[in-house]
Amino acid sequence: MSTRPKIRCAACKKRIANHEPDVMLRRLDSESRRYYHTRCTSAALELVTEAPDVWIMSVRHVEELAN
Ligand SMILES: [Zn+2]
Repeated sequence: MSTRPKIRCAACKKRIANHEPDVMLRRLDSESRRYYHTRCTSAALELVTEAPDVWIMSVRHVEELAN
């Protein structure tokens, strides 16, 4: 019975719903994490492009949806 903490998109600051897939960025040199809507992925990509050695990007798919 664990509830996911409420997470907000680092780009648009709106909440990311539990059932929504999201993009997570994890910093290698710290524990900080950022979450993004898949529709806000471009903002995440900018960060990764600027510092590819620092950020690890992973995408969480909730269900198989071809888009
Ligand atoms: Zn967003």
